[in-house]
Amino acid sequence: MSTAASNIQYPDRLDFALSPTPLQYLSNLSKELDGPRLWVKRDDLTGSHLSGNKVRKLEFLFAQARALGADTIITCGGVQSNHCRATALLAVQAGFKCHLLLRGDEPELNDGNLLLDRLAGATISFYPSHSFESRLGEYFSHWQQHYFDLGRKAYAIPTGGSNATGLWGYLRCAEELTVQCAAAGFSANHWVTATGSGGTQAGLTLGAAILSPATCVTGMAVCDDSAYFARKVGADIVAWAEEFAELSLQNTQSLPEPLNALPVTTNDRYIGPGYALAGPEIYQTIKRVAATEGLLLDPVYTAKAFHGMLAEIDSGAWANADDIVFVHTGGVFGLFPHKQHFIF
Ligand SMILES: *Cc1c(COP(=O)(O)O)cnc(C)c1O
Repeated sequence: MSTAASNIQYPDRLDFALSPTPLQYLSNLSKELDGPRLWVKRDDLTGSHLSGNKVRKLEFLFAQARALGADTIITCGGVQSNHCRATALLAVQAGFKCHLLLRGDEPELNDGNLLLDRLAGATISFYPSHSFESRLGEYFSHWQQHYFDLGRKAYAIPTGGSNATGLWGYLRCAEELTVQCAAAGFSANHWVTATGSGGTQAGLTLGAAILSPATCVTGMAVCDDSAYFARKVGADIVAWAEEFAELSLQNTQSLPEPLNALPVTTNDRYIGPGYALAGPEIYQTIKRVAATEGLLLDPVYTAKAFHGMLAEIDSGAWANADDIVFVHTGGVFGLFPHKQHFIF
């Protein structure tokens, strides 16, 4: 595939995300802030229930699964994982079986994303939180062997779909966004996104370096610290260049050098009490943005990132940016399990 913005060569992709997603100007909030112009790249609109950022990564991952002859997808995440929900629904649409390995106890109620996983008919295994990370490799091997013994073939997708293959999804988004910013009459000074497993930030960082070098990409961490994401995002980009050396070579004219020295900017000051735990300022931000722009954020990812972005603007840290684009990564179903935290 090639487009007007560049001649980036992409690997095979299943076409599931509604794209390009719109770039919208937030006129009310921009007026309130009386500072930079705020824009939002509506990746919450990649679909209504397949919505959010994971769909873009899964388009490339599912294409690879199909090419390898897999019939089953295994992936993992929290009980309210948006990534697992998107995988479960896409698996149905693309004709795969799906098995989710979820971190935590089985809740009494099937709320939010978990309800949708159930509706999609995914097989679900729950594992204790405390040892989940350290034993995850073992869980994946166990189930892959299990399906192999049944004469089936399982394709494993890591947390958040963040690996070399998934990275293509946000390289492609960066290409869309570059074209849209130019059409809107600016070259974005700053792209901001929520960062959880790092793949979105990795794709945007690489894409900006190739296509829009004056743009600064900031990942707002919702877990882990900046040092962790510097390593993780850097490693994903290097793995991408190695795994897709042939395609990368075709893209060589536009590849920045050296890849392992790309600046990776992560802000870890707005995580709050922890992953999926939010303070009152986050629920306040959700109400403020819904009431001023009719735009919905979620307490796990996008509201933390948005709150952090507003705080950074307020502090004057980004005073040299005339235009800031918030990449909205979805997550609306994660709002409902937090209903008890809202005070009206
Ligand atoms: C997974 C997710 C993110 C984080 O994206 P990563 O690529 O995992 O860093 C951000 N927002 C939402 C709504 C998500 O579901």
